[in-house]
Amino acid sequence: MTDTLIKIDLSKSAYEHDNVHNRWHPDIPMVATVKPGDDFIIECFDWTGGQIKNDDDAADVRDVDLSQVHFLSGPVGVEGAEPGDLLVVDILDIGAFDDSLWGFNGFFSKKNGGGFLTEHFPEAQKSIWDFNGMFTKSRHVPGVEFAGLIHPGLIGCLPSKELLEEWNTRETALFDTDPERVPPLATLPYGDTAHMGRMSGDAAKEAGAEAARTVPPREHGGNCDIKDLSRGSKVYFPVYVDGGGLSVGDLHFSQGDGEITFCGAIEMAGWIHLRVNLIKGGMEKYAIKNPIFKPSPITPRYDDYLIFEGISVDEQGEQHYLDVHIAYRQACLNAIEYLKKFGYSGAQAYAILGTAPVQGHISGVVDIPNACATLWLPTDIFEFDVKPNADGPTEYLDGSVEVPLAPDV
Ligand code: ZN
Repeated sequence: MTDTLIKIDLSKSAYEHDNVHNRWHPDIPMVATVKPGDDFIIECFDWTGGQIKNDDDAADVRDVDLSQVHFLSGPVGVEGAEPGDLLVVDILDIGAFDDSLWGFNGFFSKKNGGGFLTEHFPEAQKSIWDFNGMFTKSRHVPGVEFAGLIHPGLIGCLPSKELLEEWNTRETALFDTDPERVPPLATLPYGDTAHMGRMSGDAAKEAGAEAARTVPPREHGGNCDIKDLSRGSKVYFPVYVDGGGLSVGDLHFSQGDGEITFCGAIEMAGWIHLRVNLIKGGMEKYAIKNPIFKPSPITPRYDDYLIFEGISVDEQGEQHYLDVHIAYRQACLNAIEYLKKFGYSGAQAYAILGTAPVQGHISGVVDIPNACATLWLPTDIFEFDVKPNADGPTEYLDGSVEVPLAPDV
């Protein structure tokens, strides 16, 4: 039987677990050590450490303490791993806990986190998704059911001291260009809510004050939120410290490309089964700066799509130069307006784009002045026909089932 290397207790705070941490720092002690070739199971909190409840009120999303996230399980040391190596991680399987077969999706309030479409959806909202085997459905978003492309949103190795300094320097420089911005340009180190695993006392305080937040993806991987990094994939991570220090968390039952809703995908607590190996000196051998990976041989098969185009002209009609961020936003907004014609609220349509196996593509980046991005909406996730036809859209949904809306504060 495979060893469960890291066990957690969902009834206790993540802060009471010394095998969990919520910052990146080279000095966070390993909680276990394995050998190349070993496989093992790691249990994980949901990314917020249980702040979001299975109910019909979005007050918890509105009031979430984002300085606490993400709670990661680890770090796990690998014998013989040294800076410059590649840590090869096979994601053998992932699952939810039997007594916690649900997940959440939400949009943060613009005043507390924001998101990709925060100007259009400035208030906190959430939907709850129930898992039935490999499928999921939500009482808050009727008319859709889909198979989970289950994956860790966040996985990577500890940074070296030099790399941590580089992160802090460049992210502070960006933050300082507009320090009053809401939401902020970057999440800078913040010691008060840092959880440094097995570090304690002054050492933990000192390290917590400079440790990197877990929000952005970085050179080590981290919070990449790539839906295709699913069970069955093989990932090659750069190693920066002796032992590597692999940590993982932020498990997603499913997610659309871009994780546009930010809170987030379909977020869940659960377990992940991993196997590790090493390629000595692999960073240099293969010119690896950021992780690379091979996808799973098994993925849900959705091969019919309605594809929405977007160009780099913003909502006010202003022309932007080859801006794929704006182009993808337009593709998403176009899909939302389309789905509203079938009776969905805008919030429900937004939730579908954040949770379902939606693909996002950068389709063109050379045809000045417009970038073109496309959003691929799988048609078979709907319980009704969403294709255009000569008779026009029929309202399949009465629109009365709204994603719960909490008052903004
Ligand atoms: Zn997530």
